[in-house]
Amino acid sequence: MLIHLGSGPSSGHNQIPLQACILGSAGVFCLRPESPLRTSSLCLVILLSACSSPAPVPICGEPAFDPDVMWSEVDYLASPELDGRYPGTDGDRAARRMIRERFECLGLEPLADLDGYDQFFEDSEGNQTGNVIGFLPGNDFAVRDEIVVVSAHVDHLGDGFLGANDNASGISGLLSIAQAATEREASRRTLVFAAFGSEELGFEGSYTMVDDPPAQIDPDNIVYNVNMDMIGSYDQTEIVYALGSLPKTPAMSLLKVLVEDYPELDVGLGEPSDESDNVPFCERGIPYVFWWTEDPECYHERCDKSGRLDYESMASIASLNFDLAVGLADSAEDLRAAVKPGVDVCGF
Ligand SMILES: [Zn+2]
Repeated sequence: MLIHLGSGPSSGHNQIPLQACILGSAGVFCLRPESPLRTSSLCLVILLSACSSPAPVPICGEPAFDPDVMWSEVDYLASPELDGRYPGTDGDRAARRMIRERFECLGLEPLADLDGYDQFFEDSEGNQTGNVIGFLPGNDFAVRDEIVVVSAHVDHLGDGFLGANDNASGISGLLSIAQAATEREASRRTLVFAAFGSEELGFEGSYTMVDDPPAQIDPDNIVYNVNMDMIGSYDQTEIVYALGSLPKTPAMSLLKVLVEDYPELDVGLGEPSDESDNVPFCERGIPYVFWWTEDPECYHERCDKSGRLDYESMASIASLNFDLAVGLADSAEDLRAAVKPGVDVCGF
């Protein structure tokens, strides 16, 4: 049975290769003859049950910031089969399983008191959902207890609202950054990678992580949050906002230099936001950067589908956020001094 056949975005800078996935009784075969997985693209993913959603091509080891790879991830997460990843649904569970399997394949460490990478919780609507959290320990004993949280939310609205830009794009960025982080030497500080559930209901996954944290994540040790929510529509307005990069913050100092390496991006610096998972962090004094591209046409609309995103720019934005995250994690600055415990630093 043919369950998916798609070509890349017509508006993108690169033509994305044809992909075909076929669901058989033993699993999913994905054929991407022109993809980065060219030689190994005839893949087989064993599914636990015949009615599971189509699983994505496993891509540990692929280039971290490859537009084609990111497209395939968004295409899976925003597929009709996952139906917008509404909390507590099969689509939500399939998306979290994909993230969990990638974390495992990349060798991220799970938190000791969690169920693997899963921090399960019941959201305010009674949905059984969760966060997926993995980490890479820092290597400098002086600052390795300090944590930089890289995050994106996994959930969306469901019922035909597939959420490609919001926020399959951010999850793809998160996976890319996690992969790139595993391919370099350890940072001085600890990096935590968090895919949050139930963001659309009011940042419930991120509130759960900071208000009811796993034992190994003391919120008082979190020194920065770099969050991605809707990074796939750069071509709509030709600007990406690094919201929260407020004057005199460590991120602002770093970004002023880092953006020079990304002449293809116009980066908006200096504005605040209280509209994504950065809020539970900045409300308690933790500085943040929240990467966001405006999407006037399809924000919270059914047209937010995978074929329309700007994957070239998305890859650049994720790469820039990686540079920022490891720049913070390795910074010689006193990042603890930038945290204002109990003070709202969201910027309003
Ligand atoms: Zn969102």
